[in-house]
Amino acid sequence: MKFGGTSVGNAKNMDKVLDIARSMVVQPVVLVSSAMTKVTDALIKIAEQAAANQGSELQVTLDGLRELHFNTIRELLGDDHAAGAAALEVLFAELSSLSRGLLLIREVSSRSRDALLSFGERLSTVILYQRAVQRGMKARLLDARTVIKTDEQFGSAHIIKDATYQAISRELGLAPGELVITQGFIGSTLKGVTSTLGRGGSDYSGTIFGAALQASEVQIWTDVDGIMTTDPRIVPEARVIRSISYTEAAELSFFGAKVIHPSTIQPAVELGIPVWVKNTMNPAAIGTEIIPETNGSGLLAIAGKKGISVVTVRSSRMLNAYGFLRSMFQVFEEHKVSVDLIATSEVSVSVTVDDPTHLKQVIHDIATFAEVEVEHDQAIVCLVGKQLWKDAAFVGRAFSALEGIPLRMVSLGSSDVNLSLVVSKHDMEQAIKKLHNSLFGR
Ligand code: ADP
Ligand code: ASP
Ligand code: MG
Repeated sequence: MKFGGTSVGNAKNMDKVLDIARSMVVQPVVLVSSAMTKVTDALIKIAEQAAANQGSELQVTLDGLRELHFNTIRELLGDDHAAGAAALEVLFAELSSLSRGLLLIREVSSRSRDALLSFGERLSTVILYQRAVQRGMKARLLDARTVIKTDEQFGSAHIIKDATYQAISRELGLAPGELVITQGFIGSTLKGVTSTLGRGGSDYSGTIFGAALQASEVQIWTDVDGIMTTDPRIVPEARVIRSISYTEAAELSFFGAKVIHPSTIQPAVELGIPVWVKNTMNPAAIGTEIIPETNGSGLLAIAGKKGISVVTVRSSRMLNAYGFLRSMFQVFEEHKVSVDLIATSEVSVSVTVDDPTHLKQVIHDIATFAEVEVEHDQAIVCLVGKQLWKDAAFVGRAFSALEGIPLRMVSLGSSDVNLSLVVSKHDMEQAIKKLHNSLFGR
Protein backbone atom coordinates (compact mmCIF):
# COMPACT_ATOMS: atom_id res chain seq x y z
CA MET A 1 0.00 0.00 0.00
CA LYS A 2 1.47 3.32 -1.07
CA PHE A 3 0.14 6.54 0.41
CA GLY A 4 0.80 9.92 -1.24
CA GLY A 5 1.59 13.35 0.17
CA THR A 6 -1.98 14.48 0.95
CA SER A 7 -2.79 11.06 2.41
CA VAL A 8 -0.13 11.69 5.08
CA GLY A 9 -0.54 15.47 4.93
CA ASN A 10 -1.77 15.99 8.50
CA ALA A 11 -2.44 14.15 11.76
CA LYS A 12 -6.05 13.24 10.89
CA ASN A 13 -5.13 11.82 7.51
CA MET A 14 -2.23 9.83 8.98
CA ASP A 15 -4.74 8.15 11.27
CA LYS A 16 -6.96 7.40 8.27
CA VAL A 17 -3.94 5.80 6.60
CA LEU A 18 -3.38 3.56 9.60
CA ASP A 19 -7.10 2.69 9.70
CA ILE A 20 -6.88 1.57 6.09
CA ALA A 21 -3.72 -0.45 6.72
CA ARG A 22 -5.33 -2.03 9.78
CA SER A 23 -8.36 -3.11 7.77
CA MET A 24 -5.96 -5.41 5.88
CA VAL A 25 -4.57 -7.14 8.97
CA VAL A 26 -5.25 -10.65 7.82
CA GLN A 27 -2.50 -10.13 5.32
CA PRO A 28 0.94 -8.69 6.02
CA VAL A 29 1.18 -5.16 4.67
CA VAL A 30 4.07 -3.04 3.46
CA LEU A 31 3.09 0.59 3.83
CA VAL A 32 5.13 2.84 1.53
CA SER A 33 4.75 6.51 2.40
CA SER A 34 5.48 9.78 0.66
CA ALA A 35 6.65 12.91 2.40
CA MET A 36 3.88 15.05 3.92
CA THR A 37 2.32 17.26 1.27
CA LYS A 38 4.54 20.20 0.08
CA VAL A 39 7.53 18.97 2.11
CA THR A 40 9.56 17.85 -0.92
CA ASP A 41 8.90 21.28 -2.46
CA ALA A 42 10.18 22.94 0.72
CA LEU A 43 13.34 20.81 0.64
CA ILE A 44 13.94 21.85 -2.97
CA LYS A 45 13.56 25.43 -1.81
CA ILE A 46 16.25 24.83 0.82
CA ALA A 47 18.58 23.62 -1.93
CA GLU A 48 17.88 26.78 -3.94
CA GLN A 49 18.29 29.03 -0.91
CA ALA A 50 21.62 27.38 -0.04
CA ALA A 51 22.89 27.87 -3.58
CA ALA A 52 21.77 31.53 -3.53
CA ASN A 53 23.41 32.14 -0.12
CA GLN A 54 20.08 33.11 1.46
CA GLY A 55 20.86 31.97 5.00
CA SER A 56 17.99 33.63 6.83
CA GLU A 57 15.38 32.57 4.26
CA LEU A 58 16.74 29.04 4.47
CA GLN A 59 16.30 29.11 8.25
CA VAL A 60 12.66 30.17 7.83
CA THR A 61 12.02 27.19 5.52
CA LEU A 62 13.71 24.81 7.97
CA ASP A 63 11.71 26.21 10.88
CA GLY A 64 8.48 25.71 8.92
CA LEU A 65 9.37 22.04 8.38
CA ARG A 66 10.16 21.58 12.08
CA GLU A 67 6.89 23.13 13.09
CA LEU A 68 4.85 20.98 10.70
CA HIS A 69 6.37 17.69 11.83
CA PHE A 70 6.48 18.44 15.56
CA ASN A 71 2.91 19.76 15.55
CA THR A 72 1.74 16.65 13.74
CA ILE A 73 3.44 14.24 16.12
CA ARG A 74 2.15 16.16 19.15
CA GLU A 75 -1.37 16.15 17.80
CA LEU A 76 -1.23 12.42 17.07
CA LEU A 77 0.59 11.13 20.12
CA GLY A 78 -0.43 13.61 22.81
CA ASP A 79 1.48 13.02 26.05
CA ASP A 80 3.22 10.01 24.51
CA HIS A 81 5.21 11.96 21.99
CA ALA A 82 8.65 12.03 23.65
CA ALA A 83 10.19 9.04 21.84
CA GLY A 84 8.83 10.18 18.49
CA ALA A 85 9.97 13.75 19.06
CA ALA A 86 13.45 12.49 19.90
CA ALA A 87 13.56 10.51 16.65
CA LEU A 88 12.46 13.60 14.70
CA GLU A 89 15.08 15.66 16.53
CA VAL A 90 17.85 13.33 15.31
CA LEU A 91 16.67 13.79 11.71
CA PHE A 92 16.35 17.56 12.06
CA ALA A 93 19.89 17.82 13.50
CA GLU A 94 21.16 15.98 10.41
CA LEU A 95 19.01 18.04 8.03
CA SER A 96 20.13 21.25 9.66
CA SER A 97 23.85 20.49 9.41
CA LEU A 98 23.47 19.32 5.82
CA SER A 99 21.67 22.58 4.92
CA ARG A 100 24.34 24.67 6.70
CA GLY A 101 27.06 22.77 4.85
CA LEU A 102 25.41 23.43 1.48
CA LEU A 103 24.98 27.08 2.41
CA LEU A 104 28.70 27.36 3.22
CA ILE A 105 29.83 25.95 -0.09
CA ARG A 106 26.91 27.58 -1.96
CA GLU A 107 26.66 24.70 -4.31
CA VAL A 108 24.19 21.84 -4.45
CA SER A 109 25.20 18.85 -6.56
CA SER A 110 22.50 16.40 -7.64
CA ARG A 111 23.97 13.99 -5.13
CA SER A 112 23.63 16.35 -2.14
CA ARG A 113 20.21 17.41 -3.39
CA ASP A 114 19.05 13.79 -3.15
CA ALA A 115 20.42 13.56 0.40
CA LEU A 116 18.41 16.68 1.21
CA LEU A 117 15.19 15.47 -0.48
CA SER A 118 15.33 12.13 1.35
CA PHE A 119 14.35 13.85 4.61
CA GLY A 120 10.72 14.33 3.59
CA GLU A 121 9.93 10.61 3.50
CA ARG A 122 12.22 9.85 6.43
CA LEU A 123 10.34 12.34 8.61
CA SER A 124 6.80 11.33 7.64
CA THR A 125 7.49 7.61 8.23
CA VAL A 126 8.87 8.26 11.74
CA ILE A 127 5.54 9.84 12.67
CA LEU A 128 3.46 7.08 11.08
CA TYR A 129 5.54 4.42 12.80
CA GLN A 130 5.29 6.02 16.24
CA ARG A 131 1.55 6.37 15.90
CA ALA A 132 1.14 2.77 14.68
CA VAL A 133 3.03 1.54 17.74
CA GLN A 134 0.92 3.69 20.03
CA ARG A 135 -2.19 2.22 18.44
CA GLY A 136 -0.93 -1.27 19.27
CA MET A 137 -0.13 -2.34 15.74
CA LYS A 138 2.67 -4.83 15.10
CA ALA A 139 4.72 -2.24 13.21
CA ARG A 140 8.29 -2.08 12.03
CA LEU A 141 10.10 0.89 10.44
CA LEU A 142 12.32 -0.07 7.52
CA ASP A 143 14.83 2.37 5.99
CA ALA A 144 14.08 1.93 2.26
CA ARG A 145 17.68 2.87 1.46
CA THR A 146 18.85 -0.47 2.80
CA VAL A 147 16.84 -2.37 0.17
CA ILE A 148 16.06 -0.07 -2.80
CA LYS A 149 19.33 -0.21 -4.76
CA THR A 150 19.91 2.21 -7.63
CA ASP A 151 22.50 3.42 -10.10
CA GLU A 152 24.21 6.78 -9.58
CA GLN A 153 21.92 8.92 -11.69
CA PHE A 154 20.98 11.15 -8.78
CA GLY A 155 17.67 12.96 -9.15
CA SER A 156 16.09 10.18 -11.20
CA ALA A 157 17.97 7.04 -10.33
CA HIS A 158 17.23 3.67 -11.94
CA ILE A 159 16.59 0.57 -9.90
CA ILE A 160 19.13 -2.25 -9.92
CA LYS A 161 16.52 -4.92 -10.01
CA ASP A 162 18.33 -8.05 -8.83
CA ALA A 163 20.04 -6.37 -5.89
CA THR A 164 16.80 -4.66 -4.86
CA TYR A 165 14.51 -7.67 -5.14
CA GLN A 166 16.99 -9.87 -3.28
CA ALA A 167 17.40 -7.32 -0.50
CA ILE A 168 13.64 -6.90 -0.13
CA SER A 169 12.91 -10.60 0.07
CA ARG A 170 15.86 -11.11 2.45
CA GLU A 171 14.79 -8.24 4.69
CA LEU A 172 11.04 -8.81 4.71
CA GLY A 173 9.83 -12.21 5.86
CA LEU A 174 6.32 -11.01 6.48
CA ALA A 175 4.01 -12.49 9.06
CA PRO A 176 0.23 -11.99 8.96
CA GLY A 177 -0.77 -8.94 10.91
CA GLU A 178 2.66 -7.37 10.50
CA LEU A 179 2.88 -3.82 9.20
CA VAL A 180 6.16 -2.70 7.67
CA ILE A 181 6.36 1.07 7.27
CA THR A 182 8.91 2.36 4.79
CA GLN A 183 9.70 5.35 2.57
CA GLY A 184 8.78 5.78 -1.05
CA PHE A 185 10.95 7.81 -3.45
CA ILE A 186 14.34 7.10 -1.82
CA GLY A 187 17.00 4.46 -2.26
CA SER A 188 20.76 4.20 -2.23
CA THR A 189 23.53 3.31 -4.66
CA LEU A 190 25.56 0.12 -4.31
CA LYS A 191 28.09 2.21 -2.38
CA GLY A 192 25.35 3.27 0.04
CA VAL A 193 24.92 6.88 -1.13
CA THR A 194 21.33 8.19 -0.85
CA SER A 195 19.50 8.57 -4.18
CA THR A 196 15.94 9.40 -5.30
CA LEU A 197 13.69 8.01 -8.04
CA GLY A 198 12.43 11.34 -9.43
CA ARG A 199 9.42 13.49 -8.46
CA GLY A 200 6.35 11.42 -7.75
CA GLY A 201 8.56 8.35 -7.45
CA SER A 202 6.87 6.87 -4.36
CA ASP A 203 4.32 5.13 -6.59
CA TYR A 204 7.23 3.37 -8.30
CA SER A 205 8.63 2.33 -4.90
CA GLY A 206 5.20 0.85 -4.13
CA THR A 207 5.19 -1.46 -7.14
CA ILE A 208 8.86 -2.37 -6.64
CA PHE A 209 8.05 -3.65 -3.14
CA GLY A 210 4.94 -5.36 -4.49
CA ALA A 211 6.81 -7.16 -7.27
CA ALA A 212 9.78 -8.13 -5.10
CA LEU A 213 7.40 -9.71 -2.59
CA GLN A 214 5.13 -11.15 -5.29
CA ALA A 215 2.26 -9.37 -3.59
CA SER A 216 -1.32 -10.26 -4.44
CA GLU A 217 -1.93 -6.62 -5.28
CA VAL A 218 -0.48 -3.13 -5.03
CA GLN A 219 -2.68 -0.27 -3.86
CA ILE A 220 -1.82 3.34 -4.62
CA TRP A 221 -3.78 5.52 -2.18
CA THR A 222 -4.14 9.14 -3.21
CA ASP A 223 -6.54 12.09 -3.00
CA VAL A 224 -8.93 11.27 -5.87
CA ASP A 225 -11.33 8.34 -6.38
CA GLY A 226 -9.12 6.67 -8.99
CA ILE A 227 -7.72 7.32 -12.46
CA MET A 228 -10.17 9.69 -14.11
CA THR A 229 -11.05 10.65 -17.66
CA THR A 230 -8.83 13.69 -17.15
CA ASP A 231 -7.28 15.73 -14.33
CA PRO A 232 -10.27 16.80 -12.18
CA ARG A 233 -8.40 20.01 -11.37
CA ILE A 234 -8.80 21.00 -15.02
CA VAL A 235 -12.22 19.43 -15.65
CA PRO A 236 -14.28 18.99 -12.44
CA GLU A 237 -16.78 16.78 -14.36
CA ALA A 238 -14.08 14.15 -15.03
CA ARG A 239 -15.24 10.61 -14.26
CA VAL A 240 -13.52 7.67 -12.58
CA ILE A 241 -12.35 4.86 -14.88
CA ARG A 242 -13.23 1.43 -13.45
CA SER A 243 -10.46 -0.54 -15.10
CA ILE A 244 -7.60 0.28 -17.41
CA SER A 245 -4.82 -1.79 -18.99
CA TYR A 246 -1.15 -1.56 -18.06
CA THR A 247 -0.30 -0.02 -21.44
CA GLU A 248 -3.02 2.59 -21.23
CA ALA A 249 -2.13 3.56 -17.66
CA ALA A 250 1.55 3.78 -18.56
CA GLU A 251 0.75 5.92 -21.59
CA LEU A 252 -1.49 8.24 -19.55
CA SER A 253 1.07 8.79 -16.83
CA PHE A 254 3.89 9.21 -19.31
CA PHE A 255 1.91 11.94 -21.03
CA GLY A 256 1.23 13.84 -17.85
CA ALA A 257 -1.48 12.21 -15.71
CA LYS A 258 0.24 12.85 -12.40
CA VAL A 259 -2.00 10.40 -10.54
CA ILE A 260 0.66 7.71 -11.02
CA HIS A 261 4.37 8.01 -11.78
CA PRO A 262 5.28 6.82 -15.32
CA SER A 263 7.42 3.91 -14.08
CA THR A 264 4.77 2.59 -11.67
CA ILE A 265 3.36 -0.07 -13.94
CA GLN A 266 6.62 -1.61 -15.07
CA PRO A 267 7.41 -3.81 -12.02
CA ALA A 268 3.80 -5.02 -11.90
CA VAL A 269 3.71 -6.02 -15.58
CA GLU A 270 6.21 -8.86 -15.34
CA LEU A 271 4.20 -10.68 -12.67
CA GLY A 272 0.76 -9.49 -13.78
CA ILE A 273 0.12 -7.97 -10.34
CA PRO A 274 -3.06 -5.84 -10.31
CA VAL A 275 -2.50 -2.24 -9.22
CA TRP A 276 -5.39 -0.35 -7.62
CA VAL A 277 -5.69 3.41 -7.37
CA LYS A 278 -7.85 4.42 -4.42
CA ASN A 279 -8.84 7.46 -2.37
CA THR A 280 -7.63 7.78 1.23
CA MET A 281 -10.31 10.43 1.86
CA ASN A 282 -13.02 8.14 0.48
CA PRO A 283 -11.95 4.52 1.04
CA ALA A 284 -15.44 3.20 0.29
CA ALA A 285 -15.12 4.21 -3.38
CA ILE A 286 -14.04 1.24 -5.50
CA GLY A 287 -11.20 3.00 -7.30
CA THR A 288 -9.49 2.04 -10.54
CA GLU A 289 -8.02 -1.35 -11.26
CA ILE A 290 -4.98 -1.50 -13.55
CA ILE A 291 -4.76 -4.95 -15.14
CA PRO A 292 -2.88 -6.65 -18.01
CA GLU A 293 -5.70 -6.31 -20.59
CA THR A 294 -9.15 -4.78 -20.82
CA ASN A 295 -11.94 -5.24 -23.34
CA GLY A 296 -13.64 -2.56 -25.33
CA SER A 297 -12.42 0.19 -27.58
CA GLY A 298 -12.63 3.93 -27.91
CA LEU A 299 -11.42 6.86 -25.88
CA LEU A 300 -10.52 6.29 -22.25
CA ALA A 301 -8.83 9.45 -20.96
CA ILE A 302 -7.05 12.68 -21.81
CA ALA A 303 -3.71 13.75 -20.32
CA GLY A 304 -1.62 16.87 -20.70
CA LYS A 305 2.01 17.69 -20.10
CA LYS A 306 3.75 21.07 -20.17
CA GLY A 307 7.43 21.94 -20.43
CA ILE A 308 7.75 20.49 -23.92
CA SER A 309 10.20 21.73 -26.56
CA VAL A 310 9.68 21.07 -30.25
CA VAL A 311 12.85 20.65 -32.30
CA THR A 312 12.45 20.98 -36.07
CA VAL A 313 15.24 19.90 -38.38
CA ARG A 314 15.14 20.90 -42.05
CA SER A 315 17.45 19.86 -44.83
CA SER A 316 17.13 19.58 -48.55
CA ARG A 317 19.53 16.66 -48.25
CA MET A 318 16.71 14.63 -46.75
CA LEU A 319 14.98 14.53 -50.08
CA ASN A 320 15.36 10.98 -51.41
CA ALA A 321 18.37 10.42 -49.15
CA TYR A 322 18.90 7.58 -46.75
CA GLY A 323 20.86 7.83 -43.52
CA PHE A 324 19.77 11.38 -42.68
CA LEU A 325 17.45 10.38 -39.84
CA ARG A 326 20.09 8.08 -38.49
CA SER A 327 22.67 10.87 -38.22
CA MET A 328 20.10 13.16 -36.68
CA PHE A 329 18.98 10.68 -34.02
CA GLN A 330 22.58 9.76 -33.33
CA VAL A 331 23.08 13.30 -32.02
CA PHE A 332 20.14 12.89 -29.64
CA GLU A 333 21.56 9.58 -28.54
CA GLU A 334 25.06 10.95 -27.93
CA HIS A 335 23.65 13.60 -25.59
CA LYS A 336 21.18 11.17 -23.97
CA VAL A 337 18.21 13.32 -24.92
CA SER A 338 15.11 11.22 -25.37
CA VAL A 339 12.53 12.03 -27.98
CA ASP A 340 8.80 11.47 -27.45
CA LEU A 341 6.74 12.39 -30.51
CA ILE A 342 7.92 12.48 -34.10
CA ALA A 343 6.40 13.94 -37.25
CA THR A 344 8.17 13.93 -40.61
CA SER A 345 7.79 15.32 -44.10
CA GLU A 346 10.11 14.98 -47.08
CA VAL A 347 12.25 17.92 -46.02
CA SER A 348 11.75 18.26 -42.28
CA VAL A 349 11.41 16.33 -39.05
CA SER A 350 9.86 17.64 -35.84
CA VAL A 351 10.38 15.92 -32.52
CA THR A 352 9.35 16.75 -28.97
CA VAL A 353 11.68 16.69 -25.99
CA ASP A 354 10.56 17.03 -22.39
CA ASP A 355 13.91 17.53 -20.70
CA PRO A 356 15.78 20.50 -22.16
CA THR A 357 18.95 19.88 -20.08
CA HIS A 358 21.26 18.87 -22.93
CA LEU A 359 19.25 20.37 -25.77
CA LYS A 360 21.78 23.15 -26.46
CA GLN A 361 24.50 20.61 -27.35
CA VAL A 362 22.05 18.70 -29.56
CA ILE A 363 21.16 21.87 -31.48
CA HIS A 364 24.82 22.81 -31.82
CA ASP A 365 25.75 19.42 -33.27
CA ILE A 366 22.79 19.15 -35.65
CA ALA A 367 23.45 22.68 -36.89
CA THR A 368 26.70 21.40 -38.42
CA PHE A 369 24.73 19.45 -41.04
CA ALA A 370 21.15 20.83 -41.13
CA GLU A 371 18.97 23.79 -40.32
CA VAL A 372 17.51 23.46 -36.83
CA GLU A 373 14.95 25.41 -34.86
CA VAL A 374 13.57 25.03 -31.29
CA GLU A 375 10.27 26.20 -29.81
CA HIS A 376 9.96 26.06 -26.04
CA ASP A 377 6.83 26.44 -23.87
CA GLN A 378 4.81 23.84 -25.73
CA ALA A 379 2.50 21.18 -24.29
CA ILE A 380 1.39 17.70 -25.31
CA VAL A 381 -2.26 16.78 -25.07
CA CYS A 382 -2.68 13.05 -25.33
CA LEU A 383 -5.87 11.09 -25.99
CA VAL A 384 -5.52 7.53 -24.71
CA GLY A 385 -7.79 4.69 -25.74
CA LYS A 386 -8.08 1.79 -28.14
CA GLN A 387 -8.16 1.99 -31.92
CA LEU A 388 -8.87 5.70 -31.87
CA TRP A 389 -7.74 6.35 -35.40
CA LYS A 390 -10.08 3.77 -36.91
CA ASP A 391 -13.14 5.76 -35.95
CA ALA A 392 -13.24 8.63 -38.44
CA ALA A 393 -16.19 10.25 -36.66
CA PHE A 394 -14.22 10.33 -33.42
CA VAL A 395 -11.19 11.93 -35.08
CA GLY A 396 -13.46 14.47 -36.73
CA ARG A 397 -15.08 15.36 -33.41
CA ALA A 398 -11.69 15.71 -31.72
CA PHE A 399 -10.40 18.11 -34.34
CA SER A 400 -13.56 20.20 -34.50
CA ALA A 401 -13.56 20.47 -30.69
CA LEU A 402 -10.17 22.10 -31.00
CA GLU A 403 -11.31 24.78 -33.41
CA GLY A 404 -9.52 28.03 -32.67
CA ILE A 405 -6.57 26.37 -30.92
CA PRO A 406 -3.47 26.27 -33.14
CA LEU A 407 -1.97 22.77 -33.38
CA ARG A 408 1.78 22.56 -33.69
CA MET A 409 2.08 18.80 -34.26
CA VAL A 410 -0.15 15.73 -34.48
CA SER A 411 1.05 12.20 -33.89
CA LEU A 412 -0.69 8.86 -33.73
CA GLY A 413 1.09 6.42 -31.44
CA SER A 414 2.10 3.37 -33.43
CA SER A 415 0.48 1.13 -30.82
CA ASP A 416 -2.78 2.89 -31.61
CA VAL A 417 -3.47 3.55 -27.95
CA ASN A 418 -2.83 7.23 -28.24
CA LEU A 419 -3.34 10.27 -30.37
CA SER A 420 -1.09 13.15 -29.34
CA LEU A 421 -1.33 16.82 -30.16
CA VAL A 422 1.18 19.57 -29.48
CA VAL A 423 -0.21 23.00 -28.55
CA SER A 424 1.23 26.07 -26.87
CA LYS A 425 1.40 25.57 -23.11
CA HIS A 426 -0.98 28.52 -22.72
CA ASP A 427 -3.65 26.59 -24.66
CA MET A 428 -3.26 23.25 -22.88
CA GLU A 429 -6.03 23.54 -20.25
CA GLN A 430 -8.43 25.00 -22.78
CA ALA A 431 -7.69 22.20 -25.26
CA ILE A 432 -8.30 19.55 -22.58
CA LYS A 433 -11.56 21.20 -21.49
CA LYS A 434 -12.86 21.41 -25.04
CA LEU A 435 -11.87 17.84 -25.88
CA HIS A 436 -13.35 16.45 -22.68
CA ASN A 437 -16.53 18.37 -23.15
CA SER A 438 -17.02 17.19 -26.70
CA LEU A 439 -15.80 13.59 -26.33
CA PHE A 440 -17.10 12.65 -22.86
CA GLY A 441 -19.91 15.15 -22.48
CA ARG A 442 -20.53 16.98 -19.25
P1 ADP B 1 -0.08 11.70 -4.37
O1 ADP B 1 0.50 12.74 -3.49
O2 ADP B 1 -1.11 10.86 -3.70
O3 ADP B 1 0.95 10.90 -5.08
P2 ADP B 1 -0.50 13.30 -6.74
O4 ADP B 1 -0.77 14.74 -6.49
O5 ADP B 1 0.87 12.91 -7.17
O6 ADP B 1 -0.95 12.48 -5.44
O7 ADP B 1 -1.55 12.72 -7.81
C1 ADP B 1 -2.94 12.88 -7.60
C2 ADP B 1 -3.43 14.04 -8.44
O8 ADP B 1 -3.27 13.73 -9.81
C3 ADP B 1 -4.91 14.34 -8.33
O9 ADP B 1 -5.18 15.18 -7.23
C4 ADP B 1 -5.24 14.98 -9.67
O10 ADP B 1 -5.29 16.39 -9.59
C5 ADP B 1 -4.06 14.62 -10.56
N1 ADP B 1 -4.45 13.97 -11.82
C6 ADP B 1 -3.96 14.26 -13.04
N2 ADP B 1 -4.51 13.52 -13.98
C7 ADP B 1 -5.39 12.69 -13.37
C8 ADP B 1 -6.26 11.66 -13.82
N3 ADP B 1 -6.36 11.32 -15.11
N4 ADP B 1 -7.01 11.03 -12.90
C9 ADP B 1 -6.92 11.34 -11.59
N5 ADP B 1 -6.12 12.30 -11.11
C10 ADP B 1 -5.34 12.98 -11.97
N1 ASP C 1 7.80 13.17 -2.08
C1 ASP C 1 8.19 12.96 -3.45
C2 ASP C 1 7.65 14.08 -4.33
O1 ASP C 1 6.93 14.94 -3.83
C3 ASP C 1 7.81 11.61 -3.97
C4 ASP C 1 6.33 11.30 -4.00
O2 ASP C 1 5.56 11.92 -3.27
O3 ASP C 1 5.94 10.42 -4.77
O4 ASP C 1 7.97 14.12 -5.49
MG1 MG D 1 2.15 11.33 -6.75
